[in-house]
Amino acid sequence: MALNDAQNTEAAPDTSISYEDGIEYWNSVDSTVNGMLGGYPQISRIDIQGSSNFLAKLLKSSNLTSTAGSSSRSLGRVVDCGAGIGRITIGFLSKVATEVDIVEPVKKFTDEFEKREEVAGVGGMKEQGKCGSIYNVGLQDWTPQTSYDLIWNQWCLGHLTDTQLVEYFRRCGKTGLTSNGWIVVKENTTRNELDTDIFDEVDSSVTRTDRKLRELFGEAGLKIVATEQQKGFPKGLFPVRMYALRPM
Ligand code: SAH
Repeated sequence: MALNDAQNTEAAPDTSISYEDGIEYWNSVDSTVNGMLGGYPQISRIDIQGSSNFLAKLLKSSNLTSTAGSSSRSLGRVVDCGAGIGRITIGFLSKVATEVDIVEPVKKFTDEFEKREEVAGVGGMKEQGKCGSIYNVGLQDWTPQTSYDLIWNQWCLGHLTDTQLVEYFRRCGKTGLTSNGWIVVKENTTRNELDTDIFDEVDSSVTRTDRKLRELFGEAGLKIVATEQQKGFPKGLFPVRMYALRPM
């Protein structure tokens, strides 16, 4: 379809989002890393490496930095939002935080998480006391019940409409963060030459432009304290950008 003026009179892409359709799609997906990453399981390692480098830079610039030199365990309680089977919790967050909560609407994914060897096995997250609460709800219906050092949102925010996203961010900024905490958003962005959000009817989500994401952060009263693009992903994928946010 031509990207002409006529487009401006059409309904905004996010109005096509259906929570029910999205959940139906995810319920049909395997509870595996391959399922979480849409057939690109090989990018998980580099994804987590990129996240870990980004967090290390944030910690370096903050009071949460451990002066003892070790960057591990420098975060207290954190939350993995839209966590799926806990790929990020297991591979990353549990290694840098004392306790990880999970928000994930699809119960079969969190059931899988709880069964994983790294969680239930000897020396796993459970034994180490790192498993926090699991909330089986969509983020549009979730309000933080405590304050976190880090609220991690990756590859799930396209399931919320613009309005839902702004309201969710406001709740997080208001009561969800410790005084040194961050909200991190790590999401696909549409390529620059396309200055419009794109609705994907397969999983009923939108991919937003970098400009739109920044607009929504601002509307929610959040400011960007750091941002960078994930490097090293295959060429055919959307550019993935990380943003660290704090209340203005
Ligand atoms: N963040 C994880 C999972 C990505 S897959 C990772 O990177 O490995 C996308 C996840 O978003 C799925 O687990 C899906 O169930 C979840 N999701 C779908 N709708 C959601 C909503 N409204 N709120 C929060 N999560 C949602």
